[in-house]
Amino acid sequence: AELADLGTDDSSEQEAGHDSGPQPVVAVVGRPNVGKSTLVNRIIGRREAVVEDVPGVTRDRVTYDATWRGRRFTVVDTGGWDPDATGMALKIAEQAQVAAELADVILFVVDAVVGVTDADEIVGHVLRGSGKPVILAANKVDNQQMELEAAALWALGLGEPQPVSALHGRSSGDLLDVILDKLPETPQQRFGVERGPRRVALLGKPNVGKSSLLNKLAGEERVLVDPMAGTTRDPVDELVQLGGKTWRFVDTAGIRRRDRELKGADFYASMRTRGALERSEVAVVLIDASEVLTEQDLRIISLVIESGRAMVVAFNKWDLLDEDRRYYLEKEIDRQLIRVPWALRANISAKTGWHVEKLVPAIDRALESWSTRVPTARLNAFLTDLVAATPPPVRGGKQPKILFATQASTEPPKFVLFTSGFLEETYRRFIERRIREEFGFAGSPIEVTMKIRE
Ligand code: GDP
Ligand code: GDP
Repeated sequence: AELADLGTDDSSEQEAGHDSGPQPVVAVVGRPNVGKSTLVNRIIGRREAVVEDVPGVTRDRVTYDATWRGRRFTVVDTGGWDPDATGMALKIAEQAQVAAELADVILFVVDAVVGVTDADEIVGHVLRGSGKPVILAANKVDNQQMELEAAALWALGLGEPQPVSALHGRSSGDLLDVILDKLPETPQQRFGVERGPRRVALLGKPNVGKSSLLNKLAGEERVLVDPMAGTTRDPVDELVQLGGKTWRFVDTAGIRRRDRELKGADFYASMRTRGALERSEVAVVLIDASEVLTEQDLRIISLVIESGRAMVVAFNKWDLLDEDRRYYLEKEIDRQLIRVPWALRANISAKTGWHVEKLVPAIDRALESWSTRVPTARLNAFLTDLVAATPPPVRGGKQPKILFATQASTEPPKFVLFTSGFLEETYRRFIERRIREEFGFAGSPIEVTMKIRE
């Protein structure tokens, strides 16, 4: 039940989709007993405290929606750690790192009464190197005399300590103001509204039909951008109007250059492919359907997988196939593309134009998947049911639990499962499959990783 019991305001969670207005994330870190849970309750404005004198209680309740002065954000309580655990320093550092990865802003809570401990020093060190804005909350400053103690926390090198009393609410409004102040307009890893035309890399081995397809797609509508006369090695992109939208096909110069595939050019071809992927959001991989899938085709697909880009695989020269061959090919393709069952496929003929128009919705769909964010509450509700129906296998006599999950990023979507123990590879793959079934993601790679909280 701990997974479903998240957030206070269900209406704030929208359907999965890239328009769901990702909220900035504030991660709360700090030693046990410094008052993180109390402070989180204060921030989310919840009356009843979930604070209990049970060690580790915060582990099960870690994400909340908060609103302050009309601004919405997500609060993640990264939980405490067991102070008796061996390798505590490592755990502390890791917790801070997780926070730094996930968050837009980090709220580091220190107990002003106790002062700076070794553990606080370690966290401070990690956070200073994180590049993320850090707010240092000096908690348990219940009265004015205590402010002096708060000042001692300057020693952490994280700027001005913000005195607060989570318990009594003293200065908590001021702290929230400071948090608001540091919230970015655009949460991390998401593009702004003016992202410009979406960027497509058209890939494939020589003679597969890249230029033919580009000609077919672009027609007369093409616009060359970044032309650098005489320097054929510089990428030249083309803006192409398709399906009522403008697309940027990256490095089309490489496609057009006729001297491009000289002997021994494998290395350069792969460099070029990498470069194009680097600059693109989605890859269209062309494969010659009249031939068997070659090493080179699979190598290109591997490069796309490596890059984390969305992918559409287009089987070209379909006009050259007879019925038998088509049937055989479908089977062959399923087998060959077993690593990327999620890639969207299209059968086309660049020469005749047959089904070429089907590429645009596929590219669109892949990009949409790539940018999708699943709301945290929905993700956790889904996983709660999933785990209840199919629990992870017992390991070393213990039943690992998924305590909490979050989509840490989009483009590509990456999920982090916080667990109480090791989840077998097969079980993680099962979860990945089910996440795909539930939330879509056709055409996009997704990543599911776990962070074990012991
Ligand atoms: P966490 O382990 O960091 O989540 O800490 P908790 O929120 O569970 O708080 C630990 C203890 O500190 C509890 O007994 C709280 O009542 C107490 N506490 C939290 N905030 C304050 C505060 O601002 N002032 C005082 N005096 N006690 C506090
Ligand atoms: P690139 O090297 O990948 O840019 O490939 P090209 O576009 O230059 O095409 C190589 C050859 O394949 C040319 O002779 C094209 O006419 C031919 N070709 C491209 N697409 C098709 C197709 O869909 N069907 C057939 N039959 N031939 C094609």
